[in-house]
Amino acid sequence: MKYISTRTKNFTPINSAEAILQGLADDGGLFVPESIPKITLDEIKDLVDKNYSQRAVAVLKKFLTDYTEDELFESAELAYDWFDVASKVPLTILVKDEQHKNSPVGVMELYHGNTSAFKDMALQMLPQLMTRALKKVGETKEILILVATSGDTGKAALAGFADVPQTKIMVFYPADGVSKIQKLQMVTQTGNNVNVTAVRGNFDDCQNGVKNIFNNAEIRAELAKSNVKLSSANSINWGRLVPQICYYVASYAEFVSSGSIKLGDTVNVAVPTGNFGNILAAYYAKRMGVPIKKLICASNINHILTDFFKTGVYDRNRDFYKTITPSMDILISSNLERLLYHETNGNTERVKTFMQELNETGKYKINSSLKNRLDKIFYADYATEEETSNLINEVFGNYKYIVDTHTAVAMMVLGKYRRNTKDMSPVMLASTASPFKFTNAVLKALGENVDGVDDFEQLDKLSWKTKKAVPKNLAALSTAKILHENICDKNEMAEQVLKFAAK
Ligand SMILES: *Cc1c(COP(=O)(O)O)cnc(C)c1O
Repeated sequence: MKYISTRTKNFTPINSAEAILQGLADDGGLFVPESIPKITLDEIKDLVDKNYSQRAVAVLKKFLTDYTEDELFESAELAYDWFDVASKVPLTILVKDEQHKNSPVGVMELYHGNTSAFKDMALQMLPQLMTRALKKVGETKEILILVATSGDTGKAALAGFADVPQTKIMVFYPADGVSKIQKLQMVTQTGNNVNVTAVRGNFDDCQNGVKNIFNNAEIRAELAKSNVKLSSANSINWGRLVPQICYYVASYAEFVSSGSIKLGDTVNVAVPTGNFGNILAAYYAKRMGVPIKKLICASNINHILTDFFKTGVYDRNRDFYKTITPSMDILISSNLERLLYHETNGNTERVKTFMQELNETGKYKINSSLKNRLDKIFYADYATEEETSNLINEVFGNYKYIVDTHTAVAMMVLGKYRRNTKDMSPVMLASTASPFKFTNAVLKALGENVDGVDDFEQLDKLSWKTKKAVPKNLAALSTAKILHENICDKNEMAEQVLKFAAK
């Protein structure tokens, strides 16, 4: 299996290891597989009684053909080693009542990793794939991963890369722009190859600073002298996308294993969407042959994707809202580019034009035949803040089950889909964060008073309410040692990078 760019015709194909190390193609495009491999129902049947790593390898080996099966299995075992449940991605099955027993919702709990967010699924695997890629291509330089974070990605990337040989990781976060828990998660990170630096500024300052460093040839040359090469753990890296395809295949096998559906039954998939990475993974699973009918793309009030699927126009010229689902507060869904590539049958010229228009005018329009194709695959809608809050309360009332705000958005939109279309097929729904990660909004939704209640007390309160233990990684924060107190101005970021690289 070789990889090519979404933006250049006759691009010279490269191996997956090279694509993962490079991150982004030289022409600015994203790497995509030359073709989408198939998985048969018989192969899925074989996975029904297998564990998560075995299921993951069955998918990975079809995409990453330059890795051996042993390498992939070892990578999966190391990546998912410290998840707090043996099954790694439990499928909690919700059935409303006897009348709805043929319409189960399988909630894919993707948040049992070491930072309690679904980004762990990919950011634990990426370093494993990267270090093995370094060996494959004979790269001897040290890789320095630079991350700008608004909270969640930073910690997940730190946890993934900590003490991984031949890598260093440096995370910049806005000094006053993250929650107390998010900050503690980062500044207590252990590992000999990690650096966490606060920036006096907001998230955009951090992100622009990192972008400028990537684009600065002088800095790159300076780093090369210390034998260091920059890379990113951004969600456009193929090494972050491919581990996500696995959980749709694995969860389908799990759904069959639970007895709630039969092998071959079609299901719909609902995903709370931001950068379009997670739902694109579901799209690849569907294209591989997993019996998935509709992909339900759920947004919050920053519903640029809902508008895109409904009108065929992607337009970022609009107000931006900060919501109780911060990980979905996004106006540029980068991974949509890969979908456009596949659904235009690899028309790189058109994809390039769309992306140029987006860059220059902030918008682009697809034609009606492409829109019709997407209509057959996707359903898109959004939930308001109030709907999201109410849904958390309602789900708790009905099932004694607590979901985080992002998961609630997907559940709300699933409800809209079912009411509008009367399609009551079984559903796999992506649950992307532990409710303990968004304790404040969840407690408020449940009608609790949180005014003046300290973050750790809130964790205890939610634990008492749900009768579930606070995830270990979050509970440990109240006593963890602070290891990173570095802070800089936004114009000092490059200097900080050079200093850390030379260490
Ligand atoms: C990142 C994230 C999302 C959005 O996922 P994309 O792959 O960017 O669409 C949704 N929920 C949570 C909790 C996240 O951290």
